[in-house]
Amino acid sequence: MKELLTKNYWRGLKRTFDEARAESAPDCAPAPAIAPAEAAPIEPRGVLFDMDGVLYNADQPIPGAAEAVRWIQSQSVPHLFVTNTTSRSRADLVRKLATFGMTAEEGEILTPTAAVATWLRSDGKGAVAAFVRPSARAELADLPLLPDDAEHGAAYVVIGDLGDLWDYRTLNRAFRLLHSDPDAKLIALGMTRYWMAAEGIALDVAPFVVALAHASGRKPLVFGKPGAAFFRAAAERLRLVPGQILMIGDDLEADVGGAQAAGLKAALVKTGKFRPCDLDHSIRPDLVLDSVAALPALWSSYLIETK
Ligand SMILES: [Mg+2]
Repeated sequence: MKELLTKNYWRGLKRTFDEARAESAPDCAPAPAIAPAEAAPIEPRGVLFDMDGVLYNADQPIPGAAEAVRWIQSQSVPHLFVTNTTSRSRADLVRKLATFGMTAEEGEILTPTAAVATWLRSDGKGAVAAFVRPSARAELADLPLLPDDAEHGAAYVVIGDLGDLWDYRTLNRAFRLLHSDPDAKLIALGMTRYWMAAEGIALDVAPFVVALAHASGRKPLVFGKPGAAFFRAAAERLRLVPGQILMIGDDLEADVGGAQAAGLKAALVKTGKFRPCDLDHSIRPDLVLDSVAALPALWSSYLIETK
């Protein structure tokens, strides 16, 4: 116990909390005054679309989003859809986009679950305990998954958005898996604190990961936004260098701050979880758009030569 109370332990835990904060919507606390950055020319060759809050809000399409996506596709601009959603498989997301008039292939969607599945196939040190919804579990189907009642034997404990499937027994089972094997890795599918669900604001992944990190003394490996590795993986898929890519998102820290830290350009849209105080934050978007619907006109007018 004494060991757990060392300065290093608490410093590490504080970092975990800080990282959780850094991956979700900022509080509207007064931000330090920052001088406006010199406007730098933006000449992106590719686009990353965040999904929830940019293309739709839960089950409601954002006006003009489908037209904007179709325009980008008609111009053959390299693009991907990048989301921290872990409650659905990429096949589900393809179907969801289709209901809003947008076409995408599974390979054009990057999710933390898809990214972690790729990594687990190469790391491959043992059994996987997956705390994800059944629809997202399909992405992990070819991995050695532990049964849902296992309390030991995991090399990896993967925490996604279980939503209202979380209860004490389930959270405690994740803790027991970590506690029983000191080498088991705690893996977070994103570190978003909360999101805007159809029925109102709702806890996302980070609060549960932080609880498990606190209880187990384990530092999580984070897959998803705003992790730089996630954005770099997207750039590799587009075969572009990060500076040639424009990320479009409604989350100032996960989308804009994360993308900029990885060397991408970033546009903040005033839809989804956007709040006016986001514009007073120390993170400064390269562009601010009323919505993604403004993208084609902007791209055509002064932004970019794509060919
Ligand atoms: Mg979003």
